[in-house]
Formats: sequence, structure tokens, C-alpha cells
Amino acid sequence: EVEIPEDHPRYQSLLTRHRIEEGVEKGITSKQGLIAEGRGESFDYLLGEETLPSADEAERAAAARLLLAEQAVLSVNGNVAALVPGEIVELAEVTRADIEVNLFNRTDERMQAIADHLRDHGAEDVKGLTADARIAGLEHERGKVDEDGIYSADVVLVPLEDGDRAEALAEMGKTELVIDLNPLSRSPRTAAIPIIDNIIRAIPNMTSHARDLAGASSEELEAIVAEFDRETALSEAENVIRDI
Ligand code: ATP
Ligand code: MG
Repeated sequence: EVEIPEDHPRYQSLLTRHRIEEGVEKGITSKQGLIAEGRGESFDYLLGEETLPSADEAERAAAARLLLAEQAVLSVNGNVAALVPGEIVELAEVTRADIEVNLFNRTDERMQAIADHLRDHGAEDVKGLTADARIAGLEHERGKVDEDGIYSADVVLVPLEDGDRAEALAEMGKTELVIDLNPLSRSPRTAAIPIIDNIIRAIPNMTSHARDLAGASSEELEAIVAEFDRETALSEAENVIRDI
């Protein structure tokens, strides 16, 4: 572990980079993941490297939606596993969601490495390795999912997801919650709840909202989801970038 002084002005961004680098070394993150990280960082910089009030609202609505779900799945790729493994496990526990490994560039080695990494961080059941169902409209490898996981879920959290897959999942009728720092990207634009924030901040904040909402009635949770406006969330993030 490289020591990064916490008072360094770019502490969070250096920490994030370091975790992705380690992810690549451990065989968890792909080289493509390094490029995705770079894109994310540039948008985080433009958004001021903090959670916008509109993103906080999206995170609260997403927490409410997860609590309301019949069957929720948190989809994990190589960047997510490298950046927030323990935080994902905690969110899954608090919202009683399943965790499924789902990779754009799927290899058995990486699937296994990510599942092991999540178990090291306390995950009990990790889905994605069975791959006995397919998302319609995607080529064979890209469409692989678990029948009792993403395939049958009503709500799916897909952080840092590719646009094609986000669209294919939406077409299957899933309620999609997408975390992505780029408000112009197709993935958040297809989401029922687009969360324009760094996953490093978004996941712990969703967990904290889910804890606050643990005692809320379905009516209260439904009202929070209904009040959330996806167009406003997207345009507020875009405006912050344009007004720099
Ligand atoms: P498409 O246009 O099909 O959506 P894309 O070019 O956006 O494709 P990728 O580069 O794979 O596809 O997408 C990675 C996305 O993940 C980018 O939009 C980037 O902003 C986002 N991203 C990267 N790191 C983070 C992070 N730490 N937190 C949130 N979002 C991130
Ligand atoms: Mg994208």
C-alpha cells in the first residue's frame, strides 16, 4: 500500500487511481478499466469532486427503490470491485439485495478473481458464475447473466455500465439505477434513476440513506421515488459542468 497523505489536495483522486492500479495487478480490473477510470476522473473534476445536492437526492431515491424491490441485484464489474468491494457488500446487506459479477470483457479468471475479492470483503453469495441465462439483444458473451440473479430481478443497480447493456436491460423491463459521472453518457440516460456521482461517494451514501429509511412504510418509500425527477437530475449535473 502506497501512503497518500490525507491532506493532499487530490487525495481522493490519487486513492482512486491507486485502487484501480492494484485492481489491474490483482487481475480484477481490465486494462479497459483504466481508461474508464480516466474518463470518470475528468467528469468528477468538472463536477467539483463532490456529491451534488441533485445526486444526493438520486441516491436517496435509489435507496428507497432498492428497499421496495421484490428482488434487487447489485451488478459488479472490475472497476466497482477494485474501488468499493466492502461498501457494495454493506449496501447489499442493508437493502437485502444480491450481488452479481457482470463483466463487459468476460473471462473465467476475472470472474473468479472478482468473486473471491468480494468474498474476502464479506460477501456470502456471489452470483454471475453460473451464467445460465442471456440478456436479449446482446451478443453471446456480453449477454451472460444468472437466471436467479439479474435475469429475474426487477431492480438492478448497474454502476459504470456500458450503454448497450444499460439499454438492453431497460428493454427487458428492469428498473435500472445507474451510477455514472458522465451525465451525457447513454447509460445514465436510460436509467430510471441516474446517479451522477463518483461511485466512491455514491455507494456509502446510498447505504446511509437506506439505513435512515429502514423504518419507512412502502407508501413513504414510493413517495420518495415518485418525487424524484430523472430529467432534472441529469440537467443539473450538466449545468454544473457548462457553468464552470
Ligand atoms: P457509452 O457511451 O456506451 O455509455 P462509455 O464510453 O461511457 O460508453 P466506458 O468508458 O466503459 O463507456 O464508461 C465508463 C463510464 O464510467 C464513463 O462514463 C465514466 O464517466 C464512468 N466512471 C468511471 N469511473 C467512475 C467512478 N469512479 N464513478 C462513477 N462513474 C465512473
Ligand atoms: Mg457510458
